[in-house]
Amino acid sequence: MALYREQGVVLRTYKLGETDRIVHLLTQGRGKVRAVVKGVRRPGSRFGGRLEPFSHVDLQLYSGRNLDIITQAELITSFAAVRADFALSACGSTMVEATDRVAQEDERANSLVLLLLAGLRALTQRPALPSVVLDAFLLRLASVAGYHPYLDACATCGTPGRHRVFGVAAGGVLCPACAPPGSRPLDVSALALLGELAGAGWDGLDDAAAEPRARRAAAALVHSFLTYHLGRPLRAWELVPR
Ligand SMILES: [Zn+2]
Repeated sequence: MALYREQGVVLRTYKLGETDRIVHLLTQGRGKVRAVVKGVRRPGSRFGGRLEPFSHVDLQLYSGRNLDIITQAELITSFAAVRADFALSACGSTMVEATDRVAQEDERANSLVLLLLAGLRALTQRPALPSVVLDAFLLRLASVAGYHPYLDACATCGTPGRHRVFGVAAGGVLCPACAPPGSRPLDVSALALLGELAGAGWDGLDDAAAEPRARRAAAALVHSFLTYHLGRPLRAWELVPR
């Protein structure tokens, strides 16, 4: 059995037997890792509350035949504030669920780890509209996973322009020639908001999403876009207050 170190974010945990727990992590070097923590549910376990969902941890593990075994865990950031608030926790749960869906095992996941940490950090800033931070995260996750939404040129033929019909399967906006007949165009403000959500910054999202109609239209589109590319809806989505 080989010993290795990794830093990663806890995606989910579940009970195993009387005292153990299985932890799914997203690590920088090995992508998704499934590992056992022995005795973690015994009182006075040396792992304490370090391996809770959202926690960013530094780990030492043994690689096992089926599951790896966590032998040491140091907390880097607990993100306890995200767990403590219902809306933030619902958004964080949707983030880790979506990450769990796109992450692969045995594949470096630097961009994915950085995006997840940035998303969780943005939630700890207590945004007025946590669901908007979540929508931004999900569009950026789609980009990292290879489904960057085309917003400045037709997704089918490449004709530049902020076309106003969005084709979920095509992966972005569609020019009048490529849009299916009878498609309903999006509001200009909803399209502008999608651009902000898909962009790079986390500040100013509350302002960008101030208009409820644009916010709802953009949220509905993010929902269809992600559901299409992930194959089925995210379960934690329904808990997110809108
Ligand atoms: Zn076109």
